[in-house]
Amino acid sequence: MLIYVDGKLLTKEEAKVSVFDHGYLYGDGIFEGIRVYEGNVFRLKEHIDRLYESAHTICLEIPMSHKEMTQTTLDTVAATNLRDAYIRLVVSRGMGDLGIDPAKCPKPTVVIIVGSIALYPEEFYETGISLVTSSIPRIPCQCLDPRVKSLNYLNNIMAKIEARRAGVPEALMLNQEGHVAECTADNIFMVKDGELKTPDLLQGALGGITRAAVLEIARDAGIPTEETVLAKHDLYTADECFLTGTAAEVMPVIDIDGRTIGNGKPGKMTNDLLDRFRELRVRDGIKVNYEAAATVER
Ligand code: PMP
Repeated sequence: MLIYVDGKLLTKEEAKVSVFDHGYLYGDGIFEGIRVYEGNVFRLKEHIDRLYESAHTICLEIPMSHKEMTQTTLDTVAATNLRDAYIRLVVSRGMGDLGIDPAKCPKPTVVIIVGSIALYPEEFYETGISLVTSSIPRIPCQCLDPRVKSLNYLNNIMAKIEARRAGVPEALMLNQEGHVAECTADNIFMVKDGELKTPDLLQGALGGITRAAVLEIARDAGIPTEETVLAKHDLYTADECFLTGTAAEVMPVIDIDGRTIGNGKPGKMTNDLLDRFRELRVRDGIKVNYEAAATVER
């Protein structure tokens, strides 16, 4: 594992951020989670675009260009020599004082961790997983738009605690109107009568890179898709249901709040989309040049 911190490539033991960093003190910052598959960084451009969009909305100026960020990410992966990896890109407000004022933070901190990821066990893809609905609504767009991938994950973490207590791996999160938003770290889809549906992003969901890839794959395969408003009843009575995310890829859901979804097994369209996604994931990325000497200072 190697970690880029503000221009330097460090080991896990060396990599440190100040306790006065507002990312630590206030969760003031943004991040991305990206996969490397067989030496290809999956949809790197889309991840970097999302990072800069998140930064723009929270008025954080990333101290490097889009192009530099892309190259630094690729160089950090090259330096680790890992062909299959997980990249955690974090930009925090930087070091300031004990007040929340971001004006006291002259320089954002840029961290790029390249390591491995905790994946769902393979058997989950064969059996499917269960969800429970969290009692905590997703943060409304007017407060902190869930499309901003911010360092404030407490809303999701509290829902995750509820999932854990219920003995399931993920929780369904609704918005304040009671409509389906997403899960704690995944987007959600359902299939009904051959049509693929997912909540539109204004229901309170992150614009998942995997979500977008699955919508594209489905449209290319001629499957009708709809980004819409969904209630729990729609999910309970769906033929199939699945989650999407960088870690999960396409994860079948077979039970929500004790209601069996479809026939209680991973659905045919879900399995088909997972296969197509796994075919795409090595093709649809930016190739890492492992031979080129990393330009990052060591
Ligand atoms: N929703 C939330 C809240 C997330 O944190 C994530 C990322 N883990 C997702 C959805 C899925 O997004 P992506 O496909 O870009 O990983």
